[in-house]
Amino acid sequence: MPAVPRDSSPTPRRLLARLRRLMARATDLATRLDGLVHLVAGEFVAEVCSVYVMRPGEILELAATEGLRPEAVHRTRLRVGEGIVGTAAAEARPLNLPDAQNHPAFAYRPETGEEAYASMLAVPVLRGAEVLGVIAVQNRAPRRYAEDEVEALETVAMLLAEILHGAHPPAEEAVLSLPGAMARHYEGVGLTPGIALGPVVRHGRRTAPRTVLAEDPEAELGRLRAAARAMQRAVDAMLEGPARRAGHEPREVLEAYRLIAADQGWLGRIEAVVRDGLTAEAAVERVLADLRARMRQVADPYLRERLADIEDLAGRLIDHLGGGAEADPVEGGFILIARRVGPAELLDYHARGLAGLVLEEGSPTAHATIIARALGLPLLAGCRGATDAAVPGELAVLDAEEGRLVLRPEAEIVAGYRAALAAREARRAAEAGLREAEPRTRDGVRLTVMINAGLLMDLPHLAATGADGIGLFRTEIAWLARGGLPDLETEEALYRDVLAAAGDKPVLFRTIDLGGDKLLPGFAHEREENPAMGWRSLRIGLDRPAMLRRQLRAMLGAAAGRRLSVMFPMVTTVEELRAAKALLAAELRAAERRGAAPAEVQAGAMLEVPALVWQLPALLEEAAFLSVGSNDLTQFLFAADRGNPRLAGRYDFLSAPVLDLLEQVGCAAAAAGVPVGLCGEAAARPLEALAVFGVGIPQISVPPASVPAVKAMVRSLDLTAFRTFLAGLRRSARGGASLRADIAAYARDHGIALE
Ligand code: PEP
Ligand code: MG
Repeated sequence: MPAVPRDSSPTPRRLLARLRRLMARATDLATRLDGLVHLVAGEFVAEVCSVYVMRPGEILELAATEGLRPEAVHRTRLRVGEGIVGTAAAEARPLNLPDAQNHPAFAYRPETGEEAYASMLAVPVLRGAEVLGVIAVQNRAPRRYAEDEVEALETVAMLLAEILHGAHPPAEEAVLSLPGAMARHYEGVGLTPGIALGPVVRHGRRTAPRTVLAEDPEAELGRLRAAARAMQRAVDAMLEGPARRAGHEPREVLEAYRLIAADQGWLGRIEAVVRDGLTAEAAVERVLADLRARMRQVADPYLRERLADIEDLAGRLIDHLGGGAEADPVEGGFILIARRVGPAELLDYHARGLAGLVLEEGSPTAHATIIARALGLPLLAGCRGATDAAVPGELAVLDAEEGRLVLRPEAEIVAGYRAALAAREARRAAEAGLREAEPRTRDGVRLTVMINAGLLMDLPHLAATGADGIGLFRTEIAWLARGGLPDLETEEALYRDVLAAAGDKPVLFRTIDLGGDKLLPGFAHEREENPAMGWRSLRIGLDRPAMLRRQLRAMLGAAAGRRLSVMFPMVTTVEELRAAKALLAAELRAAERRGAAPAEVQAGAMLEVPALVWQLPALLEEAAFLSVGSNDLTQFLFAADRGNPRLAGRYDFLSAPVLDLLEQVGCAAAAAGVPVGLCGEAAARPLEALAVFGVGIPQISVPPASVPAVKAMVRSLDLTAFRTFLAGLRRSARGGASLRADIAAYARDHGIALE
């Protein structure tokens, strides 16, 4: 239903001026609430305006109404989650319903007489993450309330929060300390590996502004502008150090952030709200709440990243206004828990001794992830509800390798992790000695262990781990980090830096793999039902050959005079590989004409789509090498979204469907004399790496942090004996059951180092 334009929409300035007069006149809570519902009903031309207040036991009680029967006041009660009002409270978001009575959540209360009203707008009254009540307006006629009406009612809700909080300040200690509270376990996706154990710091729970209505809007504007200038100066100074020191991509992330800090659009909107009569702090929160509401509808991860940047800056602006964030007492070695976090905030926390990071929202290419990876911080994403459940200062265990967060862990868990961390420390010292050691098995087989990379800052890991090369360079990460297509020179310079860092070790450059969850702003990604299986990767490259050719040109230019290995992702048919190779050949001819061609060019294919397995003979004639993309291949093989934590652990990589397929690919490639490896994240753990080598794939590419442990495993392995065992185990396997326990038991019994 369209929003009905109304002549008499409440103008924020008039509404706030009238509310200010009301607050000055009325001092007790009941008179204030009665005055407020009367005034708001009049301004909204609504037949009903009601305020529900949260009572102990998560009960919302009707505290004041204009339009419903007066006898319902203090009688009508709804549980959180019950009815429209209870749902707005439970979900902490406005509900705007033209036909409220037919909404599935509608709960009829005969004493109110509300059957006469069709439409309803219910807005939660929030103070930080705490719900203090709900304010609702209702109209007889079915209508969807316009956006400016929703915003106006949200502003009223902010004032109500101030009134209700002043009337019933919560017993702080009741909220903050939960003696004897139970442990809470969360599952998430580890975006950067590692384990941390330490006290919790909760991010993003700013206290609500102390005052909402400004006495003197002009003076308030002056305060806002001075704070904005101070914030910009502080941001410039803060980014100066890290931006100069960090590699190329985080520098771009931080530059984007600096631009937002100075963005006149964002600051201008805050100024407009101050002119309407809110305090500067309340205006910052108000504009942020609008942005959050809009972003809820936006799927584009890059736009959502902007929101994290703005949340970050809003907090800083409030600090500069003197509002101040809650000082957290924790000193160092702490675990930060946040819905999301901005890049500069993360650098701040890092300077204060951050040990690990848990995000409710997060993705592999989010700015925070890029910075966390650069800083080597364990990062676990997707732990919904953890921010609210966390209690600052209490202990937590963050295991980004197993995808686990435990708040208030039991003593045994803490002891277990303490021991694991100590053992890891000891192992790390031992592994440092493995840098120069080759991944050669006890029976003399030289295997190949390379690293996955995508950023310049990944490159030092090559020397630090002594890996055999870069088996997967994800070129799109730099594009995503800079938020757009790089120019040819920048791109060529990046690839040249990568090759220089690799020295004479091989680098497999993977052409851009956009689409799926990797969306580039400004690029025509359409909304797709199944983006992972949609218009992505090489499919885009072949449909936009100019774009792919430009990237190939940059690679060829960077590799002038040396060997270039190009790997095409998401190849689905051999014809696609031929078409991609034709583009490469055309660019190579042009490079030769310029006299700046590589000494040798190899074009390989990633095997990520199962259909390629039935094209192996033709594929092996075309491909100079094959690399199994273990992340995508596994997700397509099991039809199980790789990013869905609910499915994590449901199907095992260490089971016959995967191992049989890998063996088939390994045998066919060996017979054809085509080198074959496996990249992605599947072989990151020694146990999985063991199985991959065991089925005859002699080369893997893993995250750098995994290299020492994988090398240690290889050096303790008798490959011939293990292959015999694995072949027998697979023969006796039934269906798709996991073989993990059997392989792990064999490893344990035969002294194969798995940790
Ligand atoms: C893979 O799918 O295993 C792979 C290496 O590609 P991606 O970048 O999609 O993880
Ligand atoms: Mg892939």
